[in-house]
Amino acid sequence: MELFKPLETKGEEIKKVKTDAPSEHVRVLIVGSGPAGYTAAIYAARANLNPVLYEGLQPGGQLTTTTEVDNFPGYPDGVTGPVMMEDLKGQAVRFGTDVRFGMATAADLSKEPYSVTIDDDKVITADALIIATGATAKYLGLESEEKFKGQGVSACATCDGFFYKGQDVAVVGGGDTACEEATYLSGICNKVYMIVRKPYLRASKAMQDRVMSTKNIEVLFEHSTKEILGDSNGVTGVSLKKESGEEVKVDITGFFVAIGHQPNSDIFKDFIDMDETGYIQTQPGTPKTNIPGVFACGDVQDKHYRQAVTAAGTGCMAALDAERYLGTRIF
Ligand code: NDP
Repeated sequence: MELFKPLETKGEEIKKVKTDAPSEHVRVLIVGSGPAGYTAAIYAARANLNPVLYEGLQPGGQLTTTTEVDNFPGYPDGVTGPVMMEDLKGQAVRFGTDVRFGMATAADLSKEPYSVTIDDDKVITADALIIATGATAKYLGLESEEKFKGQGVSACATCDGFFYKGQDVAVVGGGDTACEEATYLSGICNKVYMIVRKPYLRASKAMQDRVMSTKNIEVLFEHSTKEILGDSNGVTGVSLKKESGEEVKVDITGFFVAIGHQPNSDIFKDFIDMDETGYIQTQPGTPKTNIPGVFACGDVQDKHYRQAVTAAGTGCMAALDAERYLGTRIF
């Protein structure tokens, strides 16, 4: 029996969606559960659009891996990422959003209604689709990094930092994420090395000042990672190459990667216009994609701002535009 059928696509590659999977039709489908997805859900639910939201692999999105969020309006004393995401979820549910656990694994946007496969075994068709799938941490791509993932190599200090209490660790990257991770780890670990390939940090001035004034953080400028060293017990060190060509070895037990993110747009790539790095291209000033009735919000379409509050703002815009779109259509 043929489980998959090829679809009409923009590109060469043929995306396959199960044809015999059980299906369900909804008015508005939201994929993703960060600030963008939940805000879209709040607005769509309040507009009586009965949104169904699939949370994805990391319910609550990237903010669930951060500690203190001090820059989201409305929390004068700050809030932790996980608490903030629970608040947003609670607000979406309060207005009737059907929040479900499940991962979007394929999509067919070649015809209406648009369909998205969940967990490879259920198809949801929707009159309007809001993509809020966010972005995922990037890795360096070294073989040794892959080898020690989960055994000393991590992309989330707040998730794994606890395991390196009192030990020496390294964070690679020079942006805000790397500085934030290094600062967090400095409160748990004995010593934190920051491995920065440029002669300067890219992070905001406030974050740079924080790093530079933390006694147990040492920034290794103009160093790049050659190899992560270890044995059967996990990471034991990292071999670095200086700009001058000289190689140095640093003893560490934890290696935290904080070099940026990749948008989670892969399953839509055959249908939706994207830039060369996979960020969904929206019509300027709107969440509209090249497909009518398909909207994108949050980090999956934003490589510049990437803040929780900007993601929430575009989530609101996506729901308002979905409502307007549905109001002009007869299904
Ligand atoms: P960025 O893209 O800003 O920084 C990535 C860092 O990793 C850069 O220093 C970059 O170096 C380095 N890097 C990239 N690839 C490699 C590589 N292969 N090897 C070594 N180093 C590498 O990503 P962030 O995740 O830090 O930040 C993303 C956005 O989110 C930013 O706009 C940031 O301001 C924001 N943000 C805000 C926070 C807050 O306000 N609290 C917290 C975290 C992020 P190079 O400079 O040489 O390219």
